[in-house]
Amino acid sequence: MSYAVKEVFLTLQGEGVNAGRRAVFVRFAGCNLWSGREADRAAAVCRFCDTDFVGADGAGGGRFADAASLAGTVGSHWGDAEDARFVVLTGGEPMLQVDDALVDALHAAGFTIAIESNGTLPVHIGVDWVCISPKAGSKTVQRSGDELKLVWPQPGSDVAAMESWNFANFLIQPLDDGDAEANRDAAVAFVLGRPKWRLSLQTHKLLGLR
Ligand code: SF4
Repeated sequence: MSYAVKEVFLTLQGEGVNAGRRAVFVRFAGCNLWSGREADRAAAVCRFCDTDFVGADGAGGGRFADAASLAGTVGSHWGDAEDARFVVLTGGEPMLQVDDALVDALHAAGFTIAIESNGTLPVHIGVDWVCISPKAGSKTVQRSGDELKLVWPQPGSDVAAMESWNFANFLIQPLDDGDAEANRDAAVAFVLGRPKWRLSLQTHKLLGLR
């Protein structure tokens, strides 16, 4: 199958347990919880998105005819270093497009594959690092993985239910909107009250990285 990709870029993973790790990001176009158009935001399931995932016109993006061509692009962004190859599949919602062929092609190119998904679709079994960020108002079907990353505050989230899910790490990340300072305070208060969770900050934004 072909893949619609907004952008591909080399950076440091900014969030979560892998924060600080060199990574190639693949931002897939499209999401099942919002069209990406501002006119649709108020009626969307997910209304706080801070990401442009519409189209395939970003740097490094495009419409890739097959898995080999996309994996080749990921490899060229990584460069020659052979060790610790790491790719993060994100979006939009990457599980709308990730399939056997892409997982196999990235593994064949030597990459450890991480994904950042809203959890409304099952994550491909071959993905090596599963990060799920549940969105209130949607049904999270992927309830296991390496990290559960809840953007906070997020009214309507069933935190007690989430704590029964099978994740190795539980992370709270302050919502990045016009109330950033209050959201940080709320996230800190959350973790102080629920020690199962840890604070995740968007360090790439602090560093001016993509
Ligand atoms: S689920 Fe993720 S990509 Fe989709 S609209 Fe929400 S924040 Fe954006």
